[in-house]
Amino acid sequence: MTTEWLETDPANGMLIGPDGCHYANEKQAAHFGLLGLCGCGNPEGSYNFCRQFLQAHDSRTDDDRPWPPDIVEKLVANNPAMAAHVLAHLFTHLDLLEHGGSVGGSWLTTDGARIVDMGEMTEGEMHQNYPSPLAPEGR
Ligand SMILES: [Zn+2]
Repeated sequence: MTTEWLETDPANGMLIGPDGCHYANEKQAAHFGLLGLCGCGNPEGSYNFCRQFLQAHDSRTDDDRPWPPDIVEKLVANNPAMAAHVLAHLFTHLDLLEHGGSVGGSWLTTDGARIVDMGEMTEGEMHQNYPSPLAPEGR
């Protein structure tokens, strides 16, 4: 197993993760420092869920692999609680949720509340163009 993507702290032999924190192994560094997960809920289950999600998109070896969304749809259908857990962490890292004692107890940030309060997006709103500064008045 390679740890060459991480530095080792010579003072204690621990790995330094991409977030600057110290870890006993590279999977921990990836769990906290790359995936942005934490120790709440079922941490190894959420790591493995994320790994399976990434595996679905791994095109390095098998050109005839199934269409990734089909694999991911089954992964989510078979693990809905884990999908909800991981999504909550991702929204926390988007600064739309603030992590409670457990991610299931998270609450909205100001930006999260803004999105809720704006209401649902319509197709017209999604595809609305900027007003053209070159268009004649009244058109
Ligand atoms: Zn958490």
